Amino acid sequence: MSAGPKYKRVLLKLSGEALMGDGAFGIDPNTVSRVAKEISLARDAGVEVCVVVGGGNIFRGMKGAAQGMDRSTADYMGMLATVMNALAMQNGLESIGVDTRVLSAIPMASVSEPYIRRRAVRHLEKGRVVIFAAGTGNPFFTTDTAAALRAAEMNCNALLKGTQVDGVYTDDPKTNPEATRYDKLGYMDVLKQDLKVMDASAISLSRENNIPIVVFSIHNENALVDMLQGKGVCTVVG
Ligand code: UDP
Repeated sequence: MSAGPKYKRVLLKLSGEALMGDGAFGIDPNTVSRVAKEISLARDAGVEVCVVVGGGNIFRGMKGAAQGMDRSTADYMGMLATVMNALAMQNGLESIGVDTRVLSAIPMASVSEPYIRRRAVRHLEKGRVVIFAAGTGNPFFTTDTAAALRAAEMNCNALLKGTQVDGVYTDDPKTNPEATRYDKLGYMDVLKQDLKVMDASAISLSRENNIPIVVFSIHNENALVDMLQGKGVCTVVG
């Protein structure tokens, strides 16, 4: 008999880039379908799943600001980009029969529900996947911070960061074959060594709320459910 999942309720953070597949920009429907399948397997294993999607595959506020735009305006555009990704993800999930609700931090009544914490909890209890869109709703933040914030609000047992690599390495494993993967790291190690896990405010918020951050590759088949069963390769920051 296999052990049950390690965590009862998780928040999965996906960067916008995780949805663009091999493309250089935008949303790749095949990648969205594959990630949706991973999420549905986790839900079938009895895990309550919340998702925060980034927007970097479409627009980043910093980039707009670097080109002369007002930073806040550019950040609002970035937040709108996350709503597009959230709708794509919802579509991918619902097409395989997974009930999903998108809750946006920027009210957008025609396309999503507004973010209301208690409503989000209720959706999770009913077995629905909840996708949090529009980040924190505030400029000058990132979706990493939004993920840490929502994970705390939802009392999640872990914040899962699905990336292109299977954990945190001493150096970039793509360019340095000597780089080794950490199994475990402390929050302060990440902050002091400026390791590229999540931004500093997300790490601090997770530390204050004692929520472990699990970094794993979302690209390997069954990666999410394996990791939840304690089988996959990952780095745990806690
Ligand atoms: N953003 C923001 N406030 C938030 C979350 C996101 O202003 O709370 C904007 C910001 O401009 C950011 C963009 O949305 O660049 C896309 O989010 P992010 O860069 O975090 O996406 P990812 O890197 O995860 O794809």
